[in-house]
Amino acid sequence: MRILIAEDDFTSRTILVGVLKKEGHEVMATVNGAEAWDVLRQPDAPALIILDWMMPEMDGLEVVRRVRAMQTDRPPYLIMLTSKGEKADIIAGLDAGANDYLSKPFDPGELHARIAVGLRMVEMQDALIESRKILAHQATHDPLTGMLNRRAILDRLRKELARAGRHGDVLAVGMFDIDHFKQVNDTYGHQTGDDVLCGLTQILNESIREYDSVGRMGGEEFLVITPMKPGTNWISAFDRLCAKIAESNITTRSGVLSITVCIGVACAAAETTVDEILETADTAMYQAKNEGRNRVVSG
Ligand code: GH3
Ligand code: MG
Ligand code: MG
Ligand code: MG
Repeated sequence: MRILIAEDDFTSRTILVGVLKKEGHEVMATVNGAEAWDVLRQPDAPALIILDWMMPEMDGLEVVRRVRAMQTDRPPYLIMLTSKGEKADIIAGLDAGANDYLSKPFDPGELHARIAVGLRMVEMQDALIESRKILAHQATHDPLTGMLNRRAILDRLRKELARAGRHGDVLAVGMFDIDHFKQVNDTYGHQTGDDVLCGLTQILNESIREYDSVGRMGGEEFLVITPMKPGTNWISAFDRLCAKIAESNITTRSGVLSITVCIGVACAAAETTVDEILETADTAMYQAKNEGRNRVVSG
């Protein structure tokens, strides 16, 4: 574990560094609060800090205050070192946001035990952050394809609409639906159908531009959001994508398959609502089905 020390007293600092290194920690030693604060402002700062109270330039209490005022989802664990040992100081340190304190001269056994508590807290916090990240990913992504799920792609559409309004762009929104997908399932089985969905995902991910978005609306339906300058020929971009999908070989557990899609496109400006866009794109997509499939219709 990486530990940051701020201690102006040479002897005390040397002992601390020695003890912690011997225990296998990676130690960064600073000689005053200002130096420590410089380190703490870096994004990869150590998560456990041992701060002396009395130091030149910036004292430990001020460092604690500054650290606690930082906006971060990974606040460091702060242990104050104090030779004062007076209750009022300890209370002030804890009040300012320190997690623990150690009185100088410190006892190596106590130092070890208190650091162990700090490390457990840091590990617990990291585990919580990690599980929160996983949950956030699960809440916004489709488990089969890894794409944005329905809620997330509609969220994106809402944001892109607002952004397009600010930049004077328009959005071309394509609703994709695989043709005769039920036949794939019926002929080769559901798992092969899943392979096809993943294969189409790969084609879409490779085909869209950096500022386009794609998500799975559900089943075999996907939504592609393409911000464009007014006057751009957006239909031809969807035509190319439709042709590319039809020409692609998709590798599945049942061998190489190919599919076609229908794409219903809605062109939206800032004042269009998400519901209106989806309705237009959906209607256009069904028109493409009725016209014979493997085609793009703009609504
Ligand atoms: P159309 O050309 O009119 O779009 O016909 P279709 O067969 O594609 O459309 P239909 O709505 O009749 O069938 C869609 C099928 O998609 C039915 C459903 O079982 C299948 N499906 C939906 N979600 C999944 C999935 O996650 N995996 C697999 N393998 N199949 C799915
Ligand atoms: Mg000091
Ligand atoms: Mg469908
Ligand atoms: Mg379909």
